[in-house]
Amino acid sequence: MAPQELLKTKFGYDSFRPGQQTVIDDILAHKNVLTIMPTGGGKSLCYQIPALLMNGLTLVVSPLIALMKDQVDALNENGIPATFVNSSLTFDEIGDRFDRARNGDVKLLYVSPERLDSGAFSQLAALPIDLVAVDEAHCISQWGHDFRPSYLALAQRLNQLPTKPTIVALTATATPRVADDIKERLGIHEEVNTGFQRDNLAFKVIKDQNSDQYLLDYLKLNEGQSGIVYASTRKEVERLTKLFHKHQFSVTMYHGGLSREERRKNQDDFLYDRAFVMVATNAFGMGIDKSNVRFVIHDSVPGSLEAYYQEAGRAGRDGLPSEAILLYKIGDVQTQHFFIEQSDRDEASKQREYKKLQVMSQYANTEQCLQQFILNYFGEDGPKCGRCSNCLDTRESQDVTVDTQKVLSCVYRMHERFGKNLVAQVLAGSQGQKIKNFHFDDLSTYGIMKGQSQKKIVELIDYLTAAGYLITDGGQFPILKVAPLGVAVLQGTQQVFRKSAIQATKSLPVNDELFEQLRQLRRQLAEDQGVPPFVIF
Ligand code: ADP
Ligand code: MG
Ligand code: ZN
Repeated sequence: MAPQELLKTKFGYDSFRPGQQTVIDDILAHKNVLTIMPTGGGKSLCYQIPALLMNGLTLVVSPLIALMKDQVDALNENGIPATFVNSSLTFDEIGDRFDRARNGDVKLLYVSPERLDSGAFSQLAALPIDLVAVDEAHCISQWGHDFRPSYLALAQRLNQLPTKPTIVALTATATPRVADDIKERLGIHEEVNTGFQRDNLAFKVIKDQNSDQYLLDYLKLNEGQSGIVYASTRKEVERLTKLFHKHQFSVTMYHGGLSREERRKNQDDFLYDRAFVMVATNAFGMGIDKSNVRFVIHDSVPGSLEAYYQEAGRAGRDGLPSEAILLYKIGDVQTQHFFIEQSDRDEASKQREYKKLQVMSQYANTEQCLQQFILNYFGEDGPKCGRCSNCLDTRESQDVTVDTQKVLSCVYRMHERFGKNLVAQVLAGSQGQKIKNFHFDDLSTYGIMKGQSQKKIVELIDYLTAAGYLITDGGQFPILKVAPLGVAVLQGTQQVFRKSAIQATKSLPVNDELFEQLRQLRRQLAEDQGVPPFVIF
């Protein structure tokens, strides 16, 4: 039977979604292939159809033990012989299932990655495996946002399978770096990437608001709609659930501290629309296939843009317009920083986490189209979406070139050794103890933005970082440096615009002597290199 026919007879669909046909053809031609499709794009079919067309068995490796049963039940309902093996089964049951797989009575066998790395490997190796599908394949890369050590051993184990099966790896979130990593580790040369764009999602960043009030208003306005509210801790999940109950909203909750039965029950309540809103930690959602989720709201900043996109992407799987909202508070980023610092990870992975968190902060502070920002991060280009909160922000852009030059001058003059809080204090002319205790060799920018609150200056710095005028080194206390684009601003060849402009500050003449020296120096440099002189405060 042709793949197209199977699609109709077994799954009841008329046509393939983008990318599915190509992946299936690759697999049937025994080419290993990496499949990158957005959440809800239809990755499962890419290996389920070949599984039916190949002689032997398809092994599906998935970290989602809790969902294996559901997935297998769904296949069985379509008349597809599939089963799973995991720790919820007795020894005898497992033995029985392996027997059926060996005899060809099932076409798909779902296992967790751990199972390949255990004593059970010899049992697996005896099976007639033609195809291995590695789901959530980003878990194999340390550069991914959900690295799992059990996936590392996987690559070796797959190599040891005597049947030399074809491998298909599938994920919804992979930067080019993660994609390369997956391909290298699993020996894959083909890639089918349908892009990350989700045309029905409207991204929003809401800043500086009382988030409880925002949530209550939003739920009221969207009553009867299905949605997810993500909070960062179990305690917050409990608190918000209570708050929503108090206001008579139909909600349920999910986090790792609940019993298995409670989680199961609450998840089902949400899936079957007995409760409209799910309040959860990030423990909830992977592999959940609920089509009518109209909104996903993050009450605090997640640790990475990959995680954010994956979680937000649970909205609108049915293709109808849906919202992905981030409630951004600067303090949340600091809390996340603290979590990373306190974790017992090694230094290198902490550094990676800090970097990822910074991307999140850039996302929250950019004035670029949010969808474009996300696509760019994943190595793609795309037009402005016209739907996100930045595209819809009708405020006029204001020229903040002079304020920017002040910030950049301060960073530059302090030899690019300090973070945003200290830079803001210097610019605001803070009398704080911290400033007095530091020994700066050049304080000529001290107080040149006097009259501005430190908070506003920090916001400007965040914006300049998001927009690429400043870069940070990504450590625990990120140090600001002037980016090439910022140098152009100092050279006066690049103007800076911002919608939420801070009030223009009067420039104060400071430290004339040094200023003059620098000007001379810059002029010299400019003559030598043919660039206009620096504007420097
Ligand atoms: P992913 O794993 O990529 O997030 P799934 O494989 O769970 O997505 O598929 C999401 C939904 O899309 C499922 O309900 C699936 O049945 C449906 N689907 C997959 N392929 C097609 C298709 N060609 N036509 C219509 N619906 C499809
Ligand atoms: Mg999937
Ligand atoms: Zn947009």
